[in-house]
Amino acid sequence: MAGEDERERGKSVAIIGGGIAGLSAGCYARMNGYPATIFEMHSLPGGVCTAWQRKGYTIDSCIHWLVGSGPGSGYHRLWSEVGALRELTVVDLDEFMRVECEGGGALSFYRDVERFEKHLLELAPEDAKPIRELTRTIRKFARMDIPVDKAAELATWRDKLSMLAGMLPYGADFAKWRKVTVASFAKRFKSPIVRRALESMASEAQDFPMLGVIMPLAWQCAKTAGYPLGGSLPFARNIERRFLDLGGRIRYSARVKEILVEPDPSGGHRAVGVRLADGSEHRAEVVISAADGRATIFDLLGGRFVNEEIRKPYEGGMKPFPPLLYVSLGIADPLDSVPQVSSGISFPLDPKVEIDGKARDRLSMNVYNFDRTLAPVGKTVVIVMISADYDRWKALSSDPARYRAEKDLVGQRVVDALEQRLPGIRGKVEMIDVATPTTWERYTGNWRGSYEGWLLTGASFGSGMKKTLPGLKSFRMVGQWVSPGGGLPPAVSTGRDAIQILCKEDGKRFVASAP
Ligand SMILES: Cc1cc2nc3c(=O)[nH]c(=O)nc-3n(C[C@H](O)[C@H](O)[C@H](O)COP(=O)(O)OP(=O)(O)OC[C@H]3O[C@@H](n4cnc5c(N)ncnc54)[C@H](O)[C@@H]3O)c2cc1C
Repeated sequence: MAGEDERERGKSVAIIGGGIAGLSAGCYARMNGYPATIFEMHSLPGGVCTAWQRKGYTIDSCIHWLVGSGPGSGYHRLWSEVGALRELTVVDLDEFMRVECEGGGALSFYRDVERFEKHLLELAPEDAKPIRELTRTIRKFARMDIPVDKAAELATWRDKLSMLAGMLPYGADFAKWRKVTVASFAKRFKSPIVRRALESMASEAQDFPMLGVIMPLAWQCAKTAGYPLGGSLPFARNIERRFLDLGGRIRYSARVKEILVEPDPSGGHRAVGVRLADGSEHRAEVVISAADGRATIFDLLGGRFVNEEIRKPYEGGMKPFPPLLYVSLGIADPLDSVPQVSSGISFPLDPKVEIDGKARDRLSMNVYNFDRTLAPVGKTVVIVMISADYDRWKALSSDPARYRAEKDLVGQRVVDALEQRLPGIRGKVEMIDVATPTTWERYTGNWRGSYEGWLLTGASFGSGMKKTLPGLKSFRMVGQWVSPGGGLPPAVSTGRDAIQILCKEDGKRFVASAP
């Protein structure tokens, strides 16, 4: 068909990285007729959204909650377009998180806001005022749908006005809760249980905004932040399948060493392809990097296309998420008596347990008793995530014997800690797997092992970052390093935006549809 031939004559696109952002950019490129090739250094799709096998157990590395899992939201439409949830069953567990207390009792972050409010009021009647303020805001944001149809860069005045009108009911609350930090809001509670539980929802950032706590609870409440059974790899494989079905090409074990640039006749330079680690060159008219931001800017492009704004985050202007020690255990027990909680049960340790050089008085465990596909029958995967010191593990990794010994010690200490909460578990441990910050770095290239890009702060919440570089045409960046806070939703939306912008530049109408 003439129309289709026309669309097929799009510019060729080279995409660096087959994580969710790269795969998504690839899908939209193909939907719009651009010949697209993804170069992925690993042998699998998904990037940090992945899984690996150990002794019959599947260790899932990513999805606890997927924004857009439920129908009716903009993000759900995007996941449908890239085919991410095909044949997957999404579960919305009653409990999102649970914080167990030193003296007994627990605070459950229930998905249902009415139940959550009742539970909070029973636990801390003296805190009725801040509790109602919190739950009122959760109810309100549960009705909000983030506009994702059009790239912010393409928004006209009319689009901006209509977006403003749509967001008007939320504007004041958004501005307020973006500034209120979790630490300061927690202080308003007299109940130590609620205070501790709230603080445990903040990440490492001192100024982590309450909005970063409220939004996940609102999405849970709206039933649009569920967990796809089977976990991260089937999810990534689905997007890979969609890309291949659309006629895209993926080269695995293809590490990009350099982005090729040439002078542009109209001034500056333009990206013209990639050179791989094996020395081969692959020409393309557009290059999209969905790989680590620092490596893209300073290694693949040699730091030639930077200014103050681009350089600043990498020189201390922003902080990356602290990397993880990711300790996974295969347990020969169904652990049916443990509550099913999608994003972890935090429990106290008494006596404290020293793990990775620190005496811990608390740990959080993810018990996958709600996803039986990850373990042999009657058995369960348990995962403990612990923030770790990148420099320590980087130094250790230069001495393989010591590195292995330290990993083993971490595994044993985690078992000691779990034994306090799940007595008898020690005798049922069949598999221990410890991934360190350097594991993440080695397998995904993410800077300092950061698994989710830039840490979310009040200042960075909802703020965009530059996705192009000064003096370099035909080039864009997508994914978690251009979206503070990271996560799967910006991975798909920045991939989509990049192709929408390309279509606009080429005078083509952007099209996207579900398979
Ligand atoms: C433990 C954990 C839990 C998480 N939980 C959630 C959650 O519940 N919900 C949520 O929304 N998000 C979650 N996230 C975050 C989410 O997984 C990421 O933010 C998102 O997947 C990032 O996607 P990306 O494509 O931007 O980057 P990446 O996944 O890092 O992909 C980059 C890709 O580029 C490749 N690459 C790098 N350099 C090169 C090169 N030179 N040449 C070729 N290829 C290269 C890498 O191998 C990788 O495949 C979690 C992450 C982790 C690790």
